Amino acid sequence: MSRKAILPGATLGVMGGGQLGRMFVQAAQSLGYFTAVLDPDATSPAGLVAHYHIDTGYLDEQGLAQLMQRTEAITTEFENVPAGALVTLGAYRRVAPGADAVAICQDRAAEKAQFRRCGVACAPFALIDTPERLATVADDLLPGILKTARLGYDGKGQVRVADRSELAAAWASLGQAPCVLEKRLALALELSVVVARGADGDSVTLPVQQNLHRDGILAVTQVPAPDATPAQQQAATQAATALAEAMDYVGVLCVEFFVLADGSLVANEMAPRPHNSAHWSLDGSDVSQFELQVRTLAGLPLTAPRQHSAAVMLNLLGDLWLQDGGPEKAPDWAALLALPGVHLHLYGKANARPGRKMGHLTVTAADAATANATALQAAALLGLPAWPAA
Ligand code: ATP
Ligand code: MG
Repeated sequence: MSRKAILPGATLGVMGGGQLGRMFVQAAQSLGYFTAVLDPDATSPAGLVAHYHIDTGYLDEQGLAQLMQRTEAITTEFENVPAGALVTLGAYRRVAPGADAVAICQDRAAEKAQFRRCGVACAPFALIDTPERLATVADDLLPGILKTARLGYDGKGQVRVADRSELAAAWASLGQAPCVLEKRLALALELSVVVARGADGDSVTLPVQQNLHRDGILAVTQVPAPDATPAQQQAATQAATALAEAMDYVGVLCVEFFVLADGSLVANEMAPRPHNSAHWSLDGSDVSQFELQVRTLAGLPLTAPRQHSAAVMLNLLGDLWLQDGGPEKAPDWAALLALPGVHLHLYGKANARPGRKMGHLTVTAADAATANATALQAAALLGLPAWPAA
């Protein structure tokens, strides 16, 4: 189904005002669109830069009506936007991704069922939603990670459990909410792939990203992925594209993968939106993931993104502002910006908190070794740990 393009000069909307919404707004504005953000926070990162900020809850009828009045098409930046809100909006406006696809990505059980339908392997798991299922869970899923089926992010809503008694305590600590217990796998690598798919079924992908997490939060992304084989990269790209296809997905989708010790690839989870691991594409690719989001929403052509620079992205978490137990103090930006190829992105968040994503920086260079060496210098200036050489 091809749809009429919504051209620059029109207004595009986004549900959610976080940093992903902000970078969507900035990409839309640079293409000449007007922008509207719905988010309940009066000082949300995207609300601060959009032309219109609708300051209501995601299910507020008046807020949703205002958003529809202002805009010709609406996307989402936050997978926990209630799917019901997208259904309401979708009755009157172009909404991409659609409520059905977002609903799958919002629920780990539905997501795993989708992996299975597409023949994409994932970690062994069991659904835990009743005391009976808890009691009868297979031993070989332990040690495992208990994850709430819904509303988790950045490692929140997850508990690592070694045995049955820890599992029972963990499920109680999560309020006996529906959960999946995943077997804890020995990860050789973590990868992710962003695919953008238009309403006409055409899709393009960004290069495979290699991700390093600390405490369940993304810390470093390297592109090209230094340790993934061409076969692994091809398999990940094909799986991501097949998943988008199977959901008749319109928009930007990110699929996270694990590579296990034996080299096999398993899918971890999907995000129905741009992803932290593809922020490098703002500076290292001729088309960024946010421009892809704009193009898929507006029904503009997709061209294959070309990575023109090797890139290493570092997340800037609130902890960096809170070192030494003293008052909040920003890192030395001037020292960082003195390094060649450093691109600083700050999200306009007023208060730093531990683990809060305040910004990121991407180092670009002509080759991966130079990008990595400069990123290690940036990490050292920030007081962040180094990562193993490729
Ligand atoms: P985000 O939304 O930030 O991606 P999340 O809270 O949804 O994170 P997951 O992606 O499920 O959480 O897990 C976070 C990290 O925890 C993974 O990137 C990985 O490092 C580790 N992890 C998750 N599941 C497993 C598993 N089954 N075995 C080993 N490690 C895991
Ligand atoms: Mg994840």
